[in-house]
Amino acid sequence: MNDAQIVRALRRADQVARRAMAMGRHPFGAVLVAPDGDTVLAEQGNIDTVQHAEATLARAASLEYPADYLAQCTLVTTFEPCAMCAGTVYWANIGRVVYGAEESALLALTGNHPENPTLALPCREVFARGQKTIEVIGPVPELADEMVATHRGFWESRGR
Ligand SMILES: [Zn+2]
Repeated sequence: MNDAQIVRALRRADQVARRAMAMGRHPFGAVLVAPDGDTVLAEQGNIDTVQHAEATLARAASLEYPADYLAQCTLVTTFEPCAMCAGTVYWANIGRVVYGAEESALLALTGNHPENPTLALPCREVFARGQKTIEVIGPVPELADEMVATHRGFWESRGR
């Protein structure tokens, strides 16, 4: 994906995150982009503490598309995927991950919040233990602030 495609897809994922938030869910969003770098095949917002946007999207994609096709696709997500989601991307055979803001930025927002006690393990470390290469692009500095802005005030408003 080129820079313009990455920016477009991240902004779309952020719209999905805002829609999830409007439904009372956590403000995370992800989209699956086709090999052309433009076509959005599917989008998914957060459902709950266990059913994160990325893992849910990767599972649905694995039912819908063959593994060799998914190897050419990209999962684009507002924040760096957690270990669970990175693992699901791996097993779904999705070939590339793009994220806007890194996990440490999320940790700074959520801390030990009981609804999102962030698992601070970079996705590159998860993928490095695998037997195949998954390309990772992120964080994207010019968009990280936009992704963080969606979360501003959210976690405080959820109480503890
Ligand atoms: Zn996750």
